[in-house]
Amino acid sequence: MPTLFLLSFNFLSSLYTVFTYHSSLITYYCIYILDTNIVFAKAYHYSYNYKEFMQKERVKIKTIIFDLDDTLIKTSKLYNQAREEFSLLMENSGFKKEEALAKLDEIDIKNIQQHGFTKERYPFSLGKTYEYFSQKNGKKINPELKKKIEEIGWQVFRQIPKLVDGVYQVLDILSQKYFLILATLGDPHVQKKKLQLTDLKKYFSAIYVLRYKSVEEYQNILTEHKLDKKDTWIIGNSVRSDLNPGLKLGINCILIPYLSWKFEDEEPLSENYLQLDSLKEVLNYL
Ligand SMILES: [Mg+2]
Repeated sequence: MPTLFLLSFNFLSSLYTVFTYHSSLITYYCIYILDTNIVFAKAYHYSYNYKEFMQKERVKIKTIIFDLDDTLIKTSKLYNQAREEFSLLMENSGFKKEEALAKLDEIDIKNIQQHGFTKERYPFSLGKTYEYFSQKNGKKINPELKKKIEEIGWQVFRQIPKLVDGVYQVLDILSQKYFLILATLGDPHVQKKKLQLTDLKKYFSAIYVLRYKSVEEYQNILTEHKLDKKDTWIIGNSVRSDLNPGLKLGINCILIPYLSWKFEDEEPLSENYLQLDSLKEVLNYL
């Protein structure tokens, strides 16, 4: 009897152990699946390339290189207002609006090679576009109208662009955690004025107003601050100026598409970047 009792006790005890082991495994798998799904759902909601991001999320973040125009401030809105005003004046002078705007882009992009991103270039390109259509249509150039058209271009630089939603909140938080660098394209005087008047200058440990945003320019920044590509991030709105040079160098990139212009049109070199809908969303990741 005692032997039988002992055997049946041992059997029940083993059964209990096996049951406990399996139920803990089941619980573990349930938690794992649930957790994975939550992470997956979050990443899928925010990112078009969640797989890449999930791999990179484990990488330590030390430095963020921010773009300025149309990433932190809404610069293209000012240019779009100017374009609208210019196309109306051209229409009133008997020229087609769409043709005038397409030619303006063509002339302005050509002028970048000669004049770079100086503030003089834009009014000059507007005036040249008016001249082009006048000559093409056998019309005499009206100096007053040309001056008025050029003035539309100058007006862009007399205004301060509005801030992107949540910019202070985002930079307040990120500047306490990481080393922030600003790399912007444009006229040094204009860009510095924008930074001062918007009070954004204080967030950055280094500011670069670049003539071009190429691989070399970003490499120079990495070298100057002894930055490791693996823990450096670029955040910008432009595929051509922010994303592709970053991808070529192997820097982590976040693209936040916003208004842009023809010069910035380019296809991403790869899918190894994170795309977000707004600046505020950056705080969900970095
Ligand atoms: Mg930009």
